[in-house]
Amino acid sequence: VSGVAGAVRWASYTPAGSAEGRRVAAPDEDAFTLAATAIERLLDGGPSSGPLAHVDLVGEFPAVVDWGVTALVGSRVQVARHPRGAGSFRAALEHALRATAQGRRSVVVAAELPEREGPDGALGRSIRGASAVAVLIDGDAPADGLGPGLGAGSESAVDAVHAYWGARGGSEPASWVGDWTADPRAGSPVELRTVLEASNPALTAVSEGAYVPRPRYIENLPSRWRFAAEACDACGAQTFPARGVCRQCGSRDSLRTILLPTDGATVIAATTIGKGGQPTEFDTQVAATGGYGVVLAELAPGARVTLQVTDAPPGAIAIGSKIGTRLRRLYPMEGEWRYGRKAVPLAR
Ligand SMILES: [Zn+2]
Repeated sequence: VSGVAGAVRWASYTPAGSAEGRRVAAPDEDAFTLAATAIERLLDGGPSSGPLAHVDLVGEFPAVVDWGVTALVGSRVQVARHPRGAGSFRAALEHALRATAQGRRSVVVAAELPEREGPDGALGRSIRGASAVAVLIDGDAPADGLGPGLGAGSESAVDAVHAYWGARGGSEPASWVGDWTADPRAGSPVELRTVLEASNPALTAVSEGAYVPRPRYIENLPSRWRFAAEACDACGAQTFPARGVCRQCGSRDSLRTILLPTDGATVIAATTIGKGGQPTEFDTQVAATGGYGVVLAELAPGARVTLQVTDAPPGAIAIGSKIGTRLRRLYPMEGEWRYGRKAVPLAR
């Protein structure tokens, strides 16, 4: 029994940074990437009964969520947004239950970042360890709603979920994925200045390097965000990134879209980009956090991708090791952040 009627699976994501003794978003994380990672964990967590049709988002999100959730899950998703807070989370769950009752499989996601308060810029009230929680609603809507408890006496949606499960004798939900019990203090150290600046970025970078026009960025999202490739039924080759033509035999009409695994790729080359060696779109990042690692990794035989390394110092990922990948902020361009997958050490 999962507790909240209709909720068949729960997932959490704890952000990668740490400042002032608690977990915070790393410089390349924001509410969208926290929610995206929680959704990916939720949907990777087991078999599902059909495509996701509806997502309720609780929190303050950049505008990218309006189309980014659809790009992330790979099917057209209706997105409803709710303000942050526990009461709002409960309302979102009830909204999702009604959508599911109409046959639309739903997910509710709350993503919360620490607030800052005071003229000194210190981080505000605590949100416990996890800062994103996602719930898959895929059951019968209960006649009597959600039942008592969830959301009562809590300002934060994430805190409310903690309190709800704590009140049930500490027992965890029946189906749970993620790092719910992660140490709230652990994580990569992030300077407070960086945390605060990252929450209010200047979106004005101009690239003199590998400028990618926005239409091409959007067109390539299936391969950038989901590692979509094309398998050729004529010759058996896989082409990545997908480009509508088999790289081996040139066939165009025997291709099937497949998704290459986003975790477990093998590093075949690694390098460090030192200060001054970066493309100009990464100037802001390098000014804030210094040089960074880049790896060339093999997702499947012949399918290679170049990824920036995050959550680890330059040089931390060795050739031959396995990596995971996460959706993160890349750089600001044309008034918005662009996002893509980055490499992380796998055992985390
Ligand atoms: Zn072929």
